[in-house]
Amino acid sequence: MEVVPTHDVIIVGGGPAGSACASILVKNGVDTLLLDRANFPRVKLCAGWLTPQIWDILELSPKEYPLGLWEWNKTRIHFQGRKYTLASKGYFIRRYEFDDFLLRWSKVETIEGYNVRQIEQDGEGYWVIDKRFRAKYLIGAGGSHCPVARALFPIKEKSFCGTQEKEFEGNLEEIAACRAGEDGEPEILLHDDMKGYSWNIPKSQWLNIGTGTRVAREVLPAWNKARAFFEGNGTKGTIPLSSRPILNSMKGHGYVSFATKHLTSCQADNVFLVGDALGLAQPLTGEGILPAVLSGKLCATAIVEGAPITYRERLQTHPIINDYRILYSIKLLATRFFKDRGGERKRKSRLLSWLIATVFVALFSGKPIPGSRLLAKMKKAIMMGIPARHVAEWGKPV
Ligand SMILES: Cc1cc2nc3c(=O)[nH]c(=O)nc-3n(C[C@H](O)[C@H](O)[C@H](O)COP(=O)(O)OP(=O)(O)OC[C@H]3O[C@@H](n4cnc5c(N)ncnc54)[C@H](O)[C@@H]3O)c2cc1C
Repeated sequence: MEVVPTHDVIIVGGGPAGSACASILVKNGVDTLLLDRANFPRVKLCAGWLTPQIWDILELSPKEYPLGLWEWNKTRIHFQGRKYTLASKGYFIRRYEFDDFLLRWSKVETIEGYNVRQIEQDGEGYWVIDKRFRAKYLIGAGGSHCPVARALFPIKEKSFCGTQEKEFEGNLEEIAACRAGEDGEPEILLHDDMKGYSWNIPKSQWLNIGTGTRVAREVLPAWNKARAFFEGNGTKGTIPLSSRPILNSMKGHGYVSFATKHLTSCQADNVFLVGDALGLAQPLTGEGILPAVLSGKLCATAIVEGAPITYRERLQTHPIINDYRILYSIKLLATRFFKDRGGERKRKSRLLSWLIATVFVALFSGKPIPGSRLLAKMKKAIMMGIPARHVAEWGKPV
């Protein structure tokens, strides 16, 4: 009988979640194999925006990152016909480079171009992939269509958000001549109905332009409006004329953002989900790289410390995830509020517009929610305003 090579851990997926997880395991001498269906570097649709906490979680300084890195200290945001320039902080990278860098940096043994299909558990409780690889622990880091999540965990509600995006090389001088701010500074169009936003990010000779909406079917009309806006509705605009035809062919990808009930499915019998496979992207902004690296790290640390069962608790009690639970609750409340008003969307007062833009930019730069512990305590009171059918997903302790 053919002997199947056995590892301590197999990770499926080499995006930020898989690589962050692998780096901790490898550093601590855990025998780990990572499988990814892509050959790196690979294209991943993404604006490439990083909030500053990511570097601390990765235990890596931005100075140690050798590839394209754009630091920004201002966001230009448009909302309901008004324009604001707000202090904020973060970084942009190109995912094509970043994911490849993280995978190599983790030093994990990797098989690229390997599409995981079959996952079973053998008589000794080990996980076996396609009858070819075997491990005690299996980590699903395969993104929004992760085969581990699909095979072994309940199907998530299908509330995929929608995106249209393109990153492409343009003419350096032309981009510099028409961008809204400095190189690397994001220009954001927060949609008037607040159900999504669009971005135009100049990264030297690269442009990353796209739209994300909470509901997948709304993304195309929203993108068409955003494109017209960034192109200046026939006037100058912040997209160079020579780059505009490239935007005729956008790419789309849906992914599931955070819901508190997803946390219940983060682990089962020595199998764990991290990143998009679990549906962890920030509930309001859709930021997914931060929760991907965070969950990967927490999962690996639980394994290294010989307490894999504690992954769920580590995730659930982490301040960033606690903030996500609160934001998710706010999202549910807001959805209900606007539904009850029959979708009424009046132009906001000057002060309210500014406040909404300011809060959005604070979230965009990853600022923690002030007084989040107090808010968590107030949750019970707020819950009284939520219909019973939403209460379970709102997040009783899991
Ligand atoms: C248009 C768009 C823009 C975005 N912009 C941002 C942004 O600017 N900032 C941000 O923080 N987040 C952004 N996000 C979200 C972010 O990209 C994701 O949340 C993040 O990539 C999640 O990382 P991950 O490691 O969980 O999954 P992924 O990065 O998706 O990695 C999953 C890996 O699993 C592999 N895989 C999948 N199936 C298999 C299989 N069967 N066998 C083997 N391997 C498999 C894939 O090849 C892939 O390499 C954006 C998303 C979209 C769609």
